[in-house]
Amino acid sequence: MTAEPLSDFSRLCVHTITTKGWELEEAVEHYAEAGVSGITVWRQWLEGRNPAGVGQRIRAAGLEVVSLCRGGFYPALEEKSREEAVEDNKRAIEDAAALGSPLVVLVCGAVPGQSLVESRKQITDGIAATLPLAESLGVKLAIEPLHPMYADDRSAINSLATANDVCDQLNHPLVGIAFDVYHLWWDPDLEEQTRRTAEANRLFAYHVCDWMTPTTDLLNDRGLMGEGCIDLRGIRALVEKNGFGGMIEVEVFSNRWWEKPTAEFLEAIQQSYLNHT
Ligand code: ZN
Repeated sequence: MTAEPLSDFSRLCVHTITTKGWELEEAVEHYAEAGVSGITVWRQWLEGRNPAGVGQRIRAAGLEVVSLCRGGFYPALEEKSREEAVEDNKRAIEDAAALGSPLVVLVCGAVPGQSLVESRKQITDGIAATLPLAESLGVKLAIEPLHPMYADDRSAINSLATANDVCDQLNHPLVGIAFDVYHLWWDPDLEEQTRRTAEANRLFAYHVCDWMTPTTDLLNDRGLMGEGCIDLRGIRALVEKNGFGGMIEVEVFSNRWWEKPTAEFLEAIQQSYLNHT
């Protein structure tokens, strides 16, 4: 199963962290010039800015705000820290609403030495504690399962199945999943779990990049699409077969690419979007 090549940029969204060398205003200007359609704003890019004003600026440039990245990091050993995490997630939801972002992406968190089961319980409780606010502001929350190599300290949710289980427990139409090929490509249950995600109407977002061999840095050595071994067209065919027609979000953390001029990187992103995604 393979998807048809993408022929234009009508579904191309770029994460501000991908083009890390640009301030928010520069990213908006360059994305719009290049014909990129959507932007996912990382919270660092809101610092010192008024989210409502940022949202207006993005829309005035003709771009769509796709999501705000990221909330999460609920688990902690101390109750006080867990309460602070909930407050921080409430701020993220308020910022998303002001920005005009329909979605907050959640990197759910984990604590080295605390059991993953306990961390998952704290994640579920943490999300539940923010649901009344999310509901009143109409903001969706997307759990992003992370590759198991991050199970120690970044997320106790490491597969689509586990993310679906947590969603089932919360059982709320505003809680769904951000599907990132980097984290999920290896999963033998991908087909079945993608179907489960779609049937529950919770396939909220789709992130792309590639897996490098060898991977030299656990965080910042992601490949541009086509540089690595992920079956990008096969996975896109799978999510599209299951009804996903939303933005395709390019999220590449790469020291290698970040060393180059950002404009050159954006050009390469657009080429690899058409040729390999
Ligand atoms: Zn992602």
